Amino acid sequence: MQKRRLGRTNLQVSIVGFGGTWISELTMPDAVGVVRRAFDLGINYFDTAKLDGDSEEKIGAALHDVRDQCVIATKTGSRTKRESLEDFKSSLQRLQTDRLDIIQLHGIDDEKTLAKAMSAEGSLQTCKEARRQGLVDFIGITGHKPRVLVKAVESGEFDTVLVPLNVVTRQALEELLPAAKAHDVGVIAMKPLSAKTSTLITCLYQPSLSLVSDEPELKTLLGQKTEARVESALRYVMSQDIASVIPGLKSLGEVETATKAAEQYNGLTAEEQKRLSFKFGEKWCRDCGKCLPCPQNINIAAVLRFHTLSEVYGLRAWARKLYGGLEVNAEVCTGCGECEVKCPYKLPITSMLKKAHRRMRQE
Ligand code: SF4
Ligand code: SF4
Repeated sequence: MQKRRLGRTNLQVSIVGFGGTWISELTMPDAVGVVRRAFDLGINYFDTAKLDGDSEEKIGAALHDVRDQCVIATKTGSRTKRESLEDFKSSLQRLQTDRLDIIQLHGIDDEKTLAKAMSAEGSLQTCKEARRQGLVDFIGITGHKPRVLVKAVESGEFDTVLVPLNVVTRQALEELLPAAKAHDVGVIAMKPLSAKTSTLITCLYQPSLSLVSDEPELKTLLGQKTEARVESALRYVMSQDIASVIPGLKSLGEVETATKAAEQYNGLTAEEQKRLSFKFGEKWCRDCGKCLPCPQNINIAAVLRFHTLSEVYGLRAWARKLYGGLEVNAEVCTGCGECEVKCPYKLPITSMLKKAHRRMRQE
């Protein structure tokens, strides 16, 4: 399998890696079989987390005898020194190893949390101490808000960054990937098959919220057969300036589909480039969440995310369906303006919401 350099870590990682979240749903023998199949088919980057059920334990059981041929990245969701030290020790045990390749601060989605984790009493200090002791080689960070991750990357403390990136979730391309490149930080892309609609779906074959669902518009965009849609979605992410893309894998079939896409990847065709390129203009919501909460409980980011799906990507019926599933729609906006003063992109949110409601309520 093709490998790419993971930024300044200089590790060579498989272009498709293993997202370990979903193996926690499998029995131990099934999970071991899936992870081992991935290794046998050329995957060498395995991503897991203490918070992902017993995923670490299963990855440890599957890979302990080939440990040195793999790059294992896990995460600590703790924000303080003491708690993250406990996380770290238990992760080593569960993964059946005496050293990690990468320890990542897990799910840093706002600046306050980032500041806490990076403070003198924060979890970053534990990671650095572990690195001094030779228990881990590199330190990474994960999150869903590219704007926050840019700050982390610019701090110089992190060697890798893990962020959602897929055909319809492209915020990371705007500022984060250029910042990572400038600082030689390795980028791993997660959630390549989900649209980050309302939940954090990472599994290949989730119905309804995923890029591989049966929505007719998605079939037109990515391919009629499920496998074709998976391949198309992975190919798009591989075409970006990232080192590895890690779909959540939980079956032998999924592993085979993902590795086949990687094996066959040799850049996007001219037709794919045309089909998968979209114009955003200036006024689009980056989903940073800074405008929330709204006193009327409108999930502004979700409404505008669906509006982007509709207007930028042309996935109108899907967007309407998703919008119809929101508990509070944009019609209840009072125009108070609280959100607009908080938006870092100075978006005219109230008028955008009105337009979004009008468009997504049209029959
Ligand atoms: S202007 Fe509308 S959307 Fe914005 S905070 Fe006020 S009620 Fe909420
Ligand atoms: S409207 Fe502005 S503040 Fe709100 S999520 Fe979008 S980009 Fe962020």
